[in-house]
Amino acid sequence: MGQANLRGTFEQRKTSAIIEAIRTEKRRAAEKKAQEKKQADEWNSLTTSQQQKRVFIAGLMASVMTHGNTAGINFESELFDVELKGIKDGNCNVTDCQKPGATYYNKSTKKYYCKACAEMINWEGGRKDVMELYGVPLLCEPDA
Ligand SMILES: [Zn+2]
Repeated sequence: MGQANLRGTFEQRKTSAIIEAIRTEKRRAAEKKAQEKKQADEWNSLTTSQQQKRVFIAGLMASVMTHGNTAGINFESELFDVELKGIKDGNCNVTDCQKPGATYYNKSTKKYYCKACAEMINWEGGRKDVMELYGVPLLCEPDA
C-alpha cells in the first residue's frame, strides 16, 4: 500500500516535470519568436544605407575575429567613415549623401552638411520660420 502511494507520487511528479518542461520549452520558443520579430522590425525600420553600414561593420568585426587583425578590411570603402558623419570637415550628415567636406553648420541639428544638401535645407519656404527662430534666414551656413 505504502509502496503503491510512493510510486503514484513518483509518477505524478514525473508528469508534472514533463508538463513543466513542455511549458518552459513553449515559453522559450515564444520569446525567441518575439525576439526575432523585434530584430526584423528594427532591421526593416532602417534605411538601405543604414543596413549597408551594419552589414559592413559586421564584416569588419568578423574579419578582426577571424584573422585577429585588420587584414582584408577595405579602408577605402566610404561606409567605413560612419564616425565622420555630420562632423566639421567630415562627411555630410544626410545619411544617403555622406559626401566628404561637410562645412555647412546646421543650427537646428548642430551637425555639418555638404553645400548641396545645405542649400536644399535652406529652401526659400522655410526661411521665414528660421528667421523667427534664429534671427537669420539660413538654417545652414558655412563655418569657416
Ligand atoms: Zn550632402
